[in-house]
Amino acid sequence: MPSRMNYAPSEPASQGAFSGAQQRARERAVQQALRGRGAPTRDNAADAPTKGTAMTVLSRYSEPMRDHAEPKGLTYRPPTELAIEVSHLRKSYGPTVAVDDVSFSVGSGEIFGVIGPNGAGKTTAVECVGGLRTRDSGTVSVLGLDPQSERGALRQVVGTQLQEGSMPVRLRVSELVGLFASFYPHPADTSDLLDLLGLASKRNAYYGRLSGGQKQRVAIALALVGRPKVAILDELTTGLDPQARRDTWELVASIRDQGVTVVLVTHFMDEAERLCDRVMLVEHGQVVALDTPAMLAQRHGGGTRLSFRPSQPFEDSLLTGLPEVRGLQHEGGRVVVNGTGDLLGVVVHALDGAGVEPHNADLTTASLEDAFLRLTSRPKAAQPREVSS
Ligand code: ADP
Repeated sequence: MPSRMNYAPSEPASQGAFSGAQQRARERAVQQALRGRGAPTRDNAADAPTKGTAMTVLSRYSEPMRDHAEPKGLTYRPPTELAIEVSHLRKSYGPTVAVDDVSFSVGSGEIFGVIGPNGAGKTTAVECVGGLRTRDSGTVSVLGLDPQSERGALRQVVGTQLQEGSMPVRLRVSELVGLFASFYPHPADTSDLLDLLGLASKRNAYYGRLSGGQKQRVAIALALVGRPKVAILDELTTGLDPQARRDTWELVASIRDQGVTVVLVTHFMDEAERLCDRVMLVEHGQVVALDTPAMLAQRHGGGTRLSFRPSQPFEDSLLTGLPEVRGLQHEGGRVVVNGTGDLLGVVVHALDGAGVEPHNADLTTASLEDAFLRLTSRPKAAQPREVSS
């Protein structure tokens, strides 16, 4: 089981598990690389990059990490200090309404997930937050800055990993990271950063020769090299192998632990479930749900299902009268109870009071993926909304 500090993505083919000393060394590298050495400055691009341009920072990563992060609880109180406030954001591309009246806020130091089907408007929304897209209407504030009118100042405090970002293939990794570091007066130590991301051995490799996962890590390095206070990561772990995904999760968690607010666009439900404090589900450019992963799963995922074979018959009302129980069916000799909350605890307690023992009990709890599927499986979800011209 990797320790919490073993966040540096490993080279799965060539690197084995890290020793305790190596992990501590990597921990020190992270602390050095990401500890605030002054606010980053200077804009790194005069104009908003678009998808696929050479100067576009970034890409993605992803996957679950059962042994690192426990599932988030049902309740989460966002920090009172807000890093991001979005109100009635709207953005269209011609007749296509990509973002339609979206409002949300992100607390300082929060890992905030944005999920939704393809074409839901996730990337457009976060690019409006990151100052990479010009909104049609609504208000956006990031650390008190308007991404549109204060774009230059924003770039000093926000690091963005763009979806489908691409880099000059004939630049070496160290040159690329060094180039981006030069945009900031107080960048992270590039050597430490490459170390942290498991790219030390690729320092002199041409970007174009890297694997998909290595390019992802370079993209993350470029998003972090300016020591951002807010990191926007779009499809962070797409294309990574399971170990690299886990390591990347560790990295994101460690970044947050150092005070960085993280906005994470992902289509991996396990990633959102394990990593995010809260998750916003977007569909057709609108917010469908926003809550902790656990609460979304409980409210919209179909609840909890408990199945057991009772040691003796009992009246259904023994259980159907419990507030946590939504339904009860008999399937052969088994009783199947659906419900919410501490279903197992209350059912077992009630049965015990009646002298009934539940044999071969099987408990299934809903996941964020269950909630996602239930909330987005409506037929109209297949197509983006369009306004009539
Ligand atoms: P997601 O990130 O959820 O996949 P996007 O924000 O990329 O969604 O896209 C939302 C909608 O806007 C989609 O219908 C997409 O085709 C459209 N769209 C995105 N970017 C552009 C663009 N540059 N020009 C025209 N339409 C776009």
